[in-house]
Amino acid sequence: MADGYKYDRVLLKLSGEALAGDLGYGIDPKVVDDLAEQIAEIVRDGVQLAVVVGGGNIFRGLAGSAEGMDRAQADYIGMLATVMNSLALQDSFERHGVISRVQSAINMQEVSEPYIRRRAIRHLEKGRVVILAAGTGNPYFTTDTTAALRACELDVDCLMKATKVDGVYDSDPKTNPDAQRFDRITYLEVLNRGLNVMDATATSLCMDNAVPMIVFDLTKPGNISRALKGEAVGTTVE
Ligand code: UDP
Repeated sequence: MADGYKYDRVLLKLSGEALAGDLGYGIDPKVVDDLAEQIAEIVRDGVQLAVVVGGGNIFRGLAGSAEGMDRAQADYIGMLATVMNSLALQDSFERHGVISRVQSAINMQEVSEPYIRRRAIRHLEKGRVVILAAGTGNPYFTTDTTAALRACELDVDCLMKATKVDGVYDSDPKTNPDAQRFDRITYLEVLNRGLNVMDATATSLCMDNAVPMIVFDLTKPGNISRALKGEAVGTTVE
């Protein structure tokens, strides 16, 4: 176990939006840089880290199909967007001295390795950050489901879901000033109350396989390390 940390191996789910920062679209180099700095620290300390990044800052399949595109085709564009984000993350990680590998669920041998579970685990054991690109490789899924699936496959101790709010609330804190935040909640409650944490596929995958998740605010510097050290950051879902 990495000294002072509660978890050995974790999977960090970043939404595409998180990378866009205040730009609202695309990749904000400052956001990616801050992130790499935080990640460099935890990896140096010995935490094994896999990352799943979304693509919503560039393209979402649902938005494309709402404009009349074929849904599966639009979803493939969305998956390719996650590859761009993954390469941007890798670039920034490397500038911060973090060794990483991009593994893509859609073969793209010039820029990434294919996703091979056993190889991903080997990279993690060697202290390399594994960035999992192109979602599950299947349309009609999301990168939240990808994160849940890879969390199970890679046998991580915790799924860290980075958001812009500091946890799970009983209603939207942006519109309801009386919204109550949960310190802990079960997956079943999340499903029963219809809380907007992850899509139902991702939630039930985590529930069925007992993957604990921490939902936390990425915009507060140092929060990744705090959450990994077991400090009360965000909401624990289990
Ligand atoms: N996507 C997909 N299959 C997957 C993962 C993602 O088809 O397994 C597509 C889907 O169109 C999605 C887009 O990729 O809208 C970007 O992912 P997501 O919306 O999950 O990104 P985030 O909201 O985390 O930025």
